[in-house]
Amino acid sequence: MAEKKKPDYQGGEMFLLKMGEIVLKGLNRRRFEDRLTGNLNRRLHRYGRFRVYGRQSTVYVEPLEPACDMDGAWNAIQTVFGVVGLSRAKACEKDKDVFFETAKTYLYDQLMGARSFKVETKRADKTFPMTSIELSQYVGGLLDEAFPHLKVDVHHPDVTVYLEVRDYSGYVHGNPTPGAGGLPVGAGGRGVALLSGGIDSPVAAYMMAKRGLALDMVHFFSYPYTSLEAKEKVLELAGLLTPYAGRLHVHIVPFTQIQEELRRSCPEPLFTLAMRRFMMRISQMVAREVGAECLVTGESLGQVASQTMEAMAVTQSVVDLPVFRPVIGMDKEEIITIARRIGTFDTSILPYEDCCTVFTPSHQVTKPKLASMPDAERKLDIEALVDEAVEKTEIVSV
Ligand code: ATP
Ligand code: MG
Repeated sequence: MAEKKKPDYQGGEMFLLKMGEIVLKGLNRRRFEDRLTGNLNRRLHRYGRFRVYGRQSTVYVEPLEPACDMDGAWNAIQTVFGVVGLSRAKACEKDKDVFFETAKTYLYDQLMGARSFKVETKRADKTFPMTSIELSQYVGGLLDEAFPHLKVDVHHPDVTVYLEVRDYSGYVHGNPTPGAGGLPVGAGGRGVALLSGGIDSPVAAYMMAKRGLALDMVHFFSYPYTSLEAKEKVLELAGLLTPYAGRLHVHIVPFTQIQEELRRSCPEPLFTLAMRRFMMRISQMVAREVGAECLVTGESLGQVASQTMEAMAVTQSVVDLPVFRPVIGMDKEEIITIARRIGTFDTSILPYEDCCTVFTPSHQVTKPKLASMPDAERKLDIEALVDEAVEKTEIVSV
């Protein structure tokens, strides 16, 4: 893409984003890059008009109007998957002394806080009179004098001063800030995430969004056994995931009737499993409706009776779609660490009732046999119950 005009707004500041694994994706790379720039455009929309374009393994984000909220945009980009590192860069005249002055003032705080540094130059403009190495050495020498406390360390510097000589402008930036990593949301297709009000399922959804899944959320709601606050809480959790996952639809499935039917006719030790089988069947129906091709749950091996290997085999057997359980091998503490980092933990621990806890039987089998399920579900009109629940599902966008 052509580098046409030098951005004049915001003091010529702009963002350089490093794409991660996307670069490795060979022929798919273009598709990944388009997905990422599309996601960035949507994310940046509310912070003003920006120009977003990719070149080599870098995406450039330039403000197009004085009203752009650069700090807001900078923070927003940090939750966009597919970006491994981001730098704020300052535009400057392509002149060796201006490069030095710009580095000295723009990176002043970083350089004052460092013990060692090096300068690295990227030269796209082949008409520039110095080679990359010459410019690095020139500016490095002057910085060394200007900051006597700094040592040059070409192997492990605290700060790397990057100079870019581009066709239409020079740029200076320092160490990149880590990005959210992962792959651009949507690049991996679409999935349906089962979202309870607990700690694990928001983390599971986050982890799959990070691997490039676009998501629809499904929540099973057992009003009046679970309260309206429980529903609000789930919507709030979904809202907390949108900076990562983008705009979401939450499918609120009325689950009360199914649970009451189960309580009437299903043997108590198999109640939870039968209930979870309904969740899977309904989630698969929702998936078909929204064009999703997998289900995502927050199950962790052995955490509760319904999360043994045997129990998961029983619940999974009623659906054809792959069921992804990204926290399957994680300890609660590890899941909590992620929940805190992404900001869902405080909401997850608000008191609430989940439909799973309302009807928890006193005794549950931990090694269920698949063969025992049809008999346990014999008295239920499964198809009618599923159809009705799907029919009465409310869709909320967050
Ligand atoms: P979480 O912390 O995510 O609630 P959990 O450890 O409490 O998980 P369970 O209650 O057994 O485990 O639920 C296992 C998984 O089933 C959840 O992670 C979630 O994906 C799904 N799930 C449970 N309850 C609901 C619900 N009411 N609506 C949607 N999905 C649910
Ligand atoms: Mg739960």
